[in-house]
Amino acid sequence: MKALESLRRRLAQLDEQGLRRVRRTSDSPCIVQPTVDGRPLHAFCSNDYLGLANDPRIARALHEGVELFGTGSGASHLISGHYRVHQRLEERLASFVADHVPQAQALYFSTGYMANVGVLAGLAALDDSVEIFSEQLNHASLIDGMRLARVPARVYAHCDVQALDALLTASKANIKIVVTDSVFSMDGNLAPLPRILALCERHGAWLLVDDAHGFGLLGRQGHGALEHFGLRSEHLIYMGTLGKAAGVAGAFVAADASLIDWLVQRARSYVFSTASPPALAHALLTSLDIIEGPDGMARRERLQSLISTLSQGLRLRRWQRLESSTAIQPIVVGGNEPAMAAARALHELGYWVPAIRPPTVPAGTARLRITLSANHDPAQVAHLAEAVNRIEHSQEAEA
Ligand SMILES: *Cc1c(COP(=O)(O)O)cnc(C)c1O
Repeated sequence: MKALESLRRRLAQLDEQGLRRVRRTSDSPCIVQPTVDGRPLHAFCSNDYLGLANDPRIARALHEGVELFGTGSGASHLISGHYRVHQRLEERLASFVADHVPQAQALYFSTGYMANVGVLAGLAALDDSVEIFSEQLNHASLIDGMRLARVPARVYAHCDVQALDALLTASKANIKIVVTDSVFSMDGNLAPLPRILALCERHGAWLLVDDAHGFGLLGRQGHGALEHFGLRSEHLIYMGTLGKAAGVAGAFVAADASLIDWLVQRARSYVFSTASPPALAHALLTSLDIIEGPDGMARRERLQSLISTLSQGLRLRRWQRLESSTAIQPIVVGGNEPAMAAARALHELGYWVPAIRPPTVPAGTARLRITLSANHDPAQVAHLAEAVNRIEHSQEAEA
């Protein structure tokens, strides 16, 4: 078959360019020393930043949830799949942003991807004149949401508040939506949210903040980027994911109650999908308690201290550690092949660190993306830094 031949040719091309993705198969739960394809490794690649993905308290709550609610929800939320425990979870999530979004309500989605496409396409259906303003490094799910929204979308350069101001000034749209990641997933830096929000207030625009890598981590109570920056505005639409730091699955959007009610009517990824199992919502209630409580605080402190251990341990000459105060600690290597070689060399030494290549990052900025977890040991992180130093120096000697 001709189509199948062209497909195989394309895969071979990816191989030649060093761009073919393969999956490693883990035989362990999500822990910092898993067995992967039969080999024990030190893993620095998950988004389980607080180390809650395999937490016995949350696992017990999930068991309990299954006892209470069985396994499936049976239908979408609007038909018959909306359970009391979903409702309780949404109320609890709304309380996380109550200091930052007036009249806040929350809507729980099965995944962050679905939340982002649902919000953007749902809000675009509000009016004939909607325009979206998107940060250059936004996550793919936001980009796909803009495509589904089928309204004009302008991209502004990374963290370029002036460029965003110019675009907003030039816009004649009735409804303007600025969209940004709070923590950039491949760089680890923070968006200048206070300045962006001030612009949105001046221009009457909404600001959708994707806090996938900030929820549970930023702010004293782990409420996320809005708490970190001390923001409060009715212009804010907050998206947090629950499969990363929260250690379970799903995501939520929190905003003014009427906006949330509109999404219930018009967010197609919410309306036309089976509700996620109520047992997960039950488990998430425990996860949220941990995040807000003293253990969550202790985990955030451990993470900060591991970030210092890593940055102090690295002695790089040509590679560049990006300036990042979050658990995402990228080291830009440059070319695809050298980045792949570095990841392979780390793997041989027993470290699982992914090499991130285009199209996920711009060409020429392939990188090692180290992610830290509160469950890492300080010695484990110090040894990783030494291993990275040795590999960089030996690649340099070869070059
Ligand atoms: C992971 C991620 C998402 C998607 O969330 P899922 O729950 O994994 O679907 C959205 N935005 C950003 C920035 C992410 O990192």
